[in-house]
Amino acid sequence: MTDFLAKAQELFNYTQTLRRDFHMHPELGFEEIRTAGIVAKELRELGLETATGIAKTGVVALLEGAKPGPVLLLRFDTDALPIEEETGAEYASTISGKMHACGHDGHVAVGLTVAKMLNEMRDDLAGSVKFVFQPAEEGVVNQEGRSGAGQMIHEGVLENPKVNQALALHLWNSKPLGWLGIGTGPMMAGAEYFKITVYGKGGHGAMPQVSVDPILAASEIVSALQSVVARNVDPLKPAVLTVASIKGGEAFNVIPPKVELTGTIRTFEPEVRQIVLERFETIVLNMAKAMGCTAEINLKQISPAVINASEIAEKVRIATGHIFPETMIDEGNYLTMGAEDMAFMLEKVPGCYFFVGSANTEKGLDYDHHHPKFDIDEDALPRAAALMAAAAVEILK
Ligand SMILES: [Zn+2]
Ligand SMILES: [Zn+2]
Repeated sequence: MTDFLAKAQELFNYTQTLRRDFHMHPELGFEEIRTAGIVAKELRELGLETATGIAKTGVVALLEGAKPGPVLLLRFDTDALPIEEETGAEYASTISGKMHACGHDGHVAVGLTVAKMLNEMRDDLAGSVKFVFQPAEEGVVNQEGRSGAGQMIHEGVLENPKVNQALALHLWNSKPLGWLGIGTGPMMAGAEYFKITVYGKGGHGAMPQVSVDPILAASEIVSALQSVVARNVDPLKPAVLTVASIKGGEAFNVIPPKVELTGTIRTFEPEVRQIVLERFETIVLNMAKAMGCTAEINLKQISPAVINASEIAEKVRIATGHIFPETMIDEGNYLTMGAEDMAFMLEKVPGCYFFVGSANTEKGLDYDHHHPKFDIDEDALPRAAALMAAAAVEILK
């Protein structure tokens, strides 16, 4: 039995050096040129057939096992965020206004470590591993409206050879080092973007009777939308409906002709999503009408929910049992209302998206994802690499 954790720990310097280098040089979605260059160089040095320029800055490499078998995709996201780093770390971002505040620098380093580990274990693999280093997970979309995962699928990442299963992970600072989240079913929420435009009739603020006020209508809409989650959704099932921006009017004495609202809807289950979307539309259109206005809705799905397949999640848990026999696995679902574009891949192939606890309160490394002081305990890196490699071997043995 391979000691995956010992192997990953032997490679710790390699993993840490890469992670810190990526951390110092963050790149936003579809701009990960430097990152992709290093990834491709490392994969080619292992002798893996490597393709670049997929979804602009994505990299894909294929590792063929000694025996025939299924194709397992391992996905690692590579992008940073438009945040000014405030960690003060020696390896802090050198680029003003950009930061790896979600841990994707760690994911890339873990991915390259896993490639190194599995490359030495070719003989144990019945099947192939497709390493996918994916750009633009954080919500940046290209001209076609696709995020990194969507664009990579569009460019055929799930074909040639055809992918049978998929795994992905996230370093998770909401939980301490040592914690592992490997659930079955819905894990991360599906997300929608919406924009509502409420049209009234502009006029003098002192003569409201000759205007139709879209600000009042918009206010009523915002209030009434709160009833959807509170009164229409099963209290045992999670849902969020947030109005996040409201824009209308310029002058203190002018009723504007229109107001724009934007926001997001998050749900896990298709039935809940359906109820929320139906009630959303009914309330917006009819509340506007009741207030003498009209409303226009622009609704776009950002990503579906991340759903783990039970048979793959079970194999990841078996692999965990081998390397971390003492660890209690958190098998709960509904893990976060945050969204994740890996959902597009898991919609097409069965897989498992798991979470590796990375916070350490004693070291002050417990700021949450997307915070300017976000940083992880790097001891989570070899744990993540060991688990990903072991899970891959468990699936392809
Ligand atoms: Zn993020
Ligand atoms: Zn992330």
